[in-house]
Amino acid sequence: MCGIAAYLGEGAARVVYELLVELQHRGHEAAGIAYLSGRSFILEGGFGLVYEAIKSHRLPSSTRLAVGHVRYSTSGPYGSLYQPLIVNVDGVELAVAFNGNIVNYKSAAREVLGRLEVDWDAWVLAAILAHYYRDEGNLADAARRTAEVLRGSYALVAATTRGELLAARDPHGIRPLAFSIGNGYAAVASETAALEALGLEWRELGRAQLLYCQGTHCSIEPLAPRADPQPCIFEYVYFSRPDSIFEGAEVYKTRVEMGRLLARIDDTHVDVVAPVPDSGRAAATGYALEKGVPLVEVLYPNRFRGRSFILPPSLRGSHVARKYGVLRSAVRGRRIALVDDSIVRGSTASRITSLLKGSGALEVHFRSASPPVVCPCVLGIDFPRPTELVARNKSVEEIRDIIGADTLLYNTIENLTRAVGRPACTACFTCVYPSLVRKYVSEFRR
Ligand code: SF4
Repeated sequence: MCGIAAYLGEGAARVVYELLVELQHRGHEAAGIAYLSGRSFILEGGFGLVYEAIKSHRLPSSTRLAVGHVRYSTSGPYGSLYQPLIVNVDGVELAVAFNGNIVNYKSAAREVLGRLEVDWDAWVLAAILAHYYRDEGNLADAARRTAEVLRGSYALVAATTRGELLAARDPHGIRPLAFSIGNGYAAVASETAALEALGLEWRELGRAQLLYCQGTHCSIEPLAPRADPQPCIFEYVYFSRPDSIFEGAEVYKTRVEMGRLLARIDDTHVDVVAPVPDSGRAAATGYALEKGVPLVEVLYPNRFRGRSFILPPSLRGSHVARKYGVLRSAVRGRRIALVDDSIVRGSTASRITSLLKGSGALEVHFRSASPPVVCPCVLGIDFPRPTELVARNKSVEEIRDIIGADTLLYNTIENLTRAVGRPACTACFTCVYPSLVRKYVSEFRR
């Protein structure tokens, strides 16, 4: 999972920087901006958060075209790569950034580029786009040819030193992408909340659509034949900002509804409902409202430590241990329903349960707003290995035992899809992958 942004207009590099700050929750590993300077792109980027990776004072106010990226790696090695990628095609440079996973990148690299050894899907996407740019001479047609051969989830932005800007979403619309077009500018961002934060009116780019701008003229055009809609349900569960709109639904509202529906199938008596901050808060709110039980904060999250789920695996364990402090007076002697958005690896759930019990909680009833995660995601969320999933091949009772809670309840897939209220990819809960990627699932392994 990553965040992408682009801007065509005055002060482009600085606008993209601001958009990336608004998308920071989508990736903490690295960040980069490529901006047009004369007849080439200059890349400012590095590792860490946006303000660490990009020296904002070095971004010029004069440039009129830029693309940017925040990285949460789901393909390629951890901690050694960042985007945008810059590719040269006969003297024209392309700057490319994308969010998602290309599941057939190895076979596509072999068939289109004649390359046998590739280990990063972003590189393959940029190289194939450049390959077709050489034939077509414009980004829109190059993107259409690229879409014919690549399978997976992708929301992408690209720009050229000829002044073109492109944004595109895959035929299933798995990852979000929104844009804003106004007087003398075009802006693109992974999430609507980023554009809104900058005071821009936005629209979501449809699945299988592209936005193409050259000079001051922009148009929305077909990218590829549309497939059935499969927006990632995990964007609603965890990943997107609660104030974003994805496929017409406010993320916060869907999370509250997940909590409400979960409470309806739960007859456990508790004194308080507590969220696992921050991503469990909206579901906990819905759960508490439905139960008529007070919502109480019991954990203090150190926000400077970021989101543990999107860290590289080697850092996750120690991070969870340090991230939460316990508000003891809220915990002692109470029966607590502890609500989180999901349970993926189980490490956060067991650590927090043990913290609350060690701080005097009478009972801890762990509640997951989504069903057990039983299949890997190959479409842009970093759990590609089945062995990482705590729920894989285990009963709820066995998982409860690992977590150490008094009881454990998961939401049902019916409740989750009802809360979201539109067709969506649910493959990590059901193992049924979107039709265009199904046959490549085993090809994509990190
Ligand atoms: S498998 Fe799960 S996380 Fe991956 S795209 Fe589908 S719903 Fe999202």
